[in-house]
Amino acid sequence: MNELFKFADDIGPAKVIAIHEPKLALRALVVVDNVAAGPAIGGCRMEPDVTLEECFRLARAMTMKNAAAGLPHGGGKSVIAADPAMPLERKELTIRAFAQAIRDVRDYIVGPDMGTNERAMAWVHDEIGRAVGLPREIGGIPLDEVGATGFGIAIAAEVAQDFCDVRLAGARVAVQGFGAVGKHAARFLTARGAVLVAASDSSGTIVNPKGLDVQALAALKAEGRSVVEYASGERLGREAIVGVECDIWIPAARPDVVTISNVDSLRAKLVIQGANIPVSPEAEQRLHQRGVLSLPDFIVNAGGVICAAVEYHGGTQSLAFQTIEEKIRENTRAMLETMRQRKVSPREAATGLARERVTRAMEYRRF
Ligand code: NAD
Repeated sequence: MNELFKFADDIGPAKVIAIHEPKLALRALVVVDNVAAGPAIGGCRMEPDVTLEECFRLARAMTMKNAAAGLPHGGGKSVIAADPAMPLERKELTIRAFAQAIRDVRDYIVGPDMGTNERAMAWVHDEIGRAVGLPREIGGIPLDEVGATGFGIAIAAEVAQDFCDVRLAGARVAVQGFGAVGKHAARFLTARGAVLVAASDSSGTIVNPKGLDVQALAALKAEGRSVVEYASGERLGREAIVGVECDIWIPAARPDVVTISNVDSLRAKLVIQGANIPVSPEAEQRLHQRGVLSLPDFIVNAGGVICAAVEYHGGTQSLAFQTIEEKIRENTRAMLETMRQRKVSPREAATGLARERVTRAMEYRRF
């Protein structure tokens, strides 16, 4: 019992569900963290080694992200302990069985995450009529294809201009991870006058102070090749992206890429956290002391979940973009004004904003 309640605090989790279907060797966990603002939205991750703690932390991160974005949704997360590369037929059966197991957990809406995708969400939707991140053919807005999160990052960058010494026109941008988030962030930022001077992926880094062509890089990635195969520029190792001379640095790959051991090699004035938890708390503190503005993940990378929520409520792609713009503009500004007024870090301001919204939503509930 104590094991299950060790993460409990004044916000959640509301429910922790363990699923076991021996016939399919299906083992899964669902954490519905908080539903004060509305049914929880959060991804379903398929990974062989997942712990309850990881699931809880991911669910809490969704509570904070959805509250900070001002969505009528709480946060949750699910994990299926399995190899995502299993044969497709077996994967379909596993996901469909998982969907049936959560049929009556009506305050949890599933979305895609690592190891699952829009096809998996279509199976869940087919079983129980409740999922987001669906294929276009059944009313979905393909958020990675349209660049929902990258668009939100560009909006956050526009707002940040009033709070740091960076102007988007002519700003040098470096992007770590040229995937769904990174390439669209580069596309929307260059459309606003910025210059992409460096990009990386799991194979290495390409640098060209004169500028890289975003479309050409995206075309390389679409062919399954690496950004280092780009025609002109200096090719460096994967980690070199951290020390590239630039104005805006965007981590859009993996967690914990900037820690106290490499934070001082970062030479940007503005960091916009596209990935989830890319900068460790100590490194974030260090950036703040150095006067580098680092915009926290759950405020600036909420474009994807905002798009999913618009989809869930029957909205169109253009409404999704309008909503991302409105919410990320408003929330980034509110966070940065609090930072200035209360003399706190952006993370402290963002966490305060999200917690305040969750607590206020909880006051409207009977239980
Ligand atoms: P993706 O798989 O489309 O792209 C990831 C890219 O990062 C790939 O190009 C890969 O080669 C590269 N990469 C992997 N390891 C790397 C490394 N060590 N150094 C440099 N590049 C590396 O994934 P994505 O959807 O763009 O997501 C990126 C990150 O953003 C993830 O942490 C994800 O959880 C987070 N995120 C995504 C969304 C979304 O809407 N897709 C929303 C919020 C947060």
